[in-house]
Amino acid sequence: MRSISNEKNLDNKKILLRLDLNVPLEEGKITDTTRIDKILPTLNFLTKQKAKIIILSHVGRPKGKIIKELSLKPICEDLKKKLKVNIKLITENINKIRNKNFFDRFDEEILILENIRYYSEEEKNDNKFAKHLANLGDLYVNDAFSCSHRAHASVYKIPKFMPSFSGLQLDLEVDALTKITSKITRPITCIIGGSKISTKINIIKNLITKFDNIIIVGGMANNFIEYFGNSIGKSLKEENCDLIIKEIISLSKKEKCKIIFPEDVIVSKNLYGSSQKKELDEILSDEMILDIGPKTIEKIINIIDKSKTILWNGPAGYFENPSFANGSIKIAKKIIENNRKNKVFSVAGGGDTVSLLNSLNAVSNFNFVSTAGGAFLEYLEGKELPGITALN
Ligand code: ADP
Ligand code: MG
Repeated sequence: MRSISNEKNLDNKKILLRLDLNVPLEEGKITDTTRIDKILPTLNFLTKQKAKIIILSHVGRPKGKIIKELSLKPICEDLKKKLKVNIKLITENINKIRNKNFFDRFDEEILILENIRYYSEEEKNDNKFAKHLANLGDLYVNDAFSCSHRAHASVYKIPKFMPSFSGLQLDLEVDALTKITSKITRPITCIIGGSKISTKINIIKNLITKFDNIIIVGGMANNFIEYFGNSIGKSLKEENCDLIIKEIISLSKKEKCKIIFPEDVIVSKNLYGSSQKKELDEILSDEMILDIGPKTIEKIINIIDKSKTILWNGPAGYFENPSFANGSIKIAKKIIENNRKNKVFSVAGGGDTVSLLNSLNAVSNFNFVSTAGGAFLEYLEGKELPGITALN
């Protein structure tokens, strides 16, 4: 992997820079800017070298369609304020841009192409689309570690067509995670939550052989609660997971890795409703599970107390509503307490997990915080990430 930080002569080079500017948005406003703030050094480095930067990024999941609410416009505005350079959002259809000369008519130092996932070719890892994108620049830089577990065109395919480099932030994340995974001490506990069940559930199996405890919370836990014969009402869940859960349970017994899932929960009729504590066999058909209950919190806190290493991805509940943030807050507070006493080595990852920790001012109380969620888990699995492979 060649790092862009070692390159000289970038003067006037058009750099296709893949970033992860997928920040949480609420009604067009950015609610957490961590992912933007982290890549400012990269942008400063490149603008100082007088490179012409063409940013590629996605926001949310528009699934190949133009969805106005998922425009990069608010991100462009935030970058403008922070970098104090001229930045322009290019809204033209990428496929209609002929070649890199197109960009010569702009005086701005930084150009941002509109949400790359507006194009279905992106997630299909389309060869033609990647080749076309490659033709728009001179060099490619991947500074989106958190997207590097995806074999998508702008992450995996473009490097096949042009000189490609890692970015400063990607270098930092890979260095930190390499150090962490080589120094890890037992007992190791991994807490997995959040809502991206389909991506994360398959990873759990591969983590069983490496860890002592796997605590399953958040939306992910709903599938487990249902698997053990409980009705989960309107709760978030993923279809067709019974087989994988069965495998997880049987492998965990063989490998002596404890799988912990909620024993009680907090439910509501909807995301904005009032909260109610329930045992697992009390959930009604019009209710949804939105947080873990007090017994579960107690159990998790005990496990954290006995752990030397904690790896955490995914909130324990729908924390955006304070009524359902209690589980995540209690977990965070216990980890912080033990970290302060040097009793535990703690690492957290994931866009939403980081914004939760930011809201608690807790980032500095973790040994390392990665903005990557899925990529973070896959890295822990020991998998080589497609985006990294492509740079090697
Ligand atoms: P990360 O970004 O940290 O990797 P995810 O993107 O997988 O995490 O999931 C974060 C989202 O999961 C948050 O928006 C949170 O509100 C949601 N969430 C957690 N638990 C639940 C639940 N029980 N029901 C619905 N959403 C949940
Ligand atoms: Mg997320």
